[in-house]
Amino acid sequence: MREAPLQNPAVEGHQPVLRRLIEQALQQFYAPTCVLCGAPGTGDLDLCEGCLADLPTNRHCCSHCSLPLPAELPAGTLCGSCQHRPPPFAVCRTAFRYEDPVPTLVGGAKYRARMNLLRLLGQCLALDLLERNAERPDLLLPVPLHPRRLRERGYNQALEIARVLGRELSLRVDKRSCARVLATTPQTGLEHKERRRNVRGAFRVLRPLDAPWVTIVDDVVTTGSTVSELARALLKSGVERVDVWALARTP
Ligand SMILES: [Zn+2]
Ligand SMILES: [Zn+2]
Repeated sequence: MREAPLQNPAVEGHQPVLRRLIEQALQQFYAPTCVLCGAPGTGDLDLCEGCLADLPTNRHCCSHCSLPLPAELPAGTLCGSCQHRPPPFAVCRTAFRYEDPVPTLVGGAKYRARMNLLRLLGQCLALDLLERNAERPDLLLPVPLHPRRLRERGYNQALEIARVLGRELSLRVDKRSCARVLATTPQTGLEHKERRRNVRGAFRVLRPLDAPWVTIVDDVVTTGSTVSELARALLKSGVERVDVWALARTP
């Protein structure tokens, strides 16, 4: 004799309706909304089409360090600094110039723990990299935070961005092989030379990375001192090529 199925028709019958109602409510609650103007978001981005189109993309830039350059210079131009003293990484790619409203978006993300902004900008960077056919590394390595800073802030913004990029571009993210061993003072307000001195010896590679080609992920590249210092540590540990991907580059 076959056993009766273990099912309560009254409960089963209501579950799909309830689930659908909850899903609808959640969808409405989390419906993508532009963080700059409040209009409905485009696709699954919290940014409307107009505001997205107005973001300052960084297409005219140094082909090595992505320093924004005047539009009239031909593609492939190197900035003075890269001609004079090339950075240790192979190439740095950034989606935006660090100009309005990018500082608002990144600043909000950094100091007010607004994860949706970081994810949104990470999605923009992923789209930009796809559009530009950026070469893909074996591994993404977010710039590590010093444990004390991580405790203060509660999260590492570079890791949040790397997670989005890893998901969108199907790349591995490594958050354990490298550590920030010096709690450096904030770089804001420091001159280029001071910044370089400030981050010297800040990173330690804890174990060999099982990847010949690593891309460092950060939020904003200012003078490039931090990512250069990390790139040097990685190259010294045996990594063959190091690139940098970041949301934005300061002019
Ligand atoms: Zn908008
Ligand atoms: Zn450059």
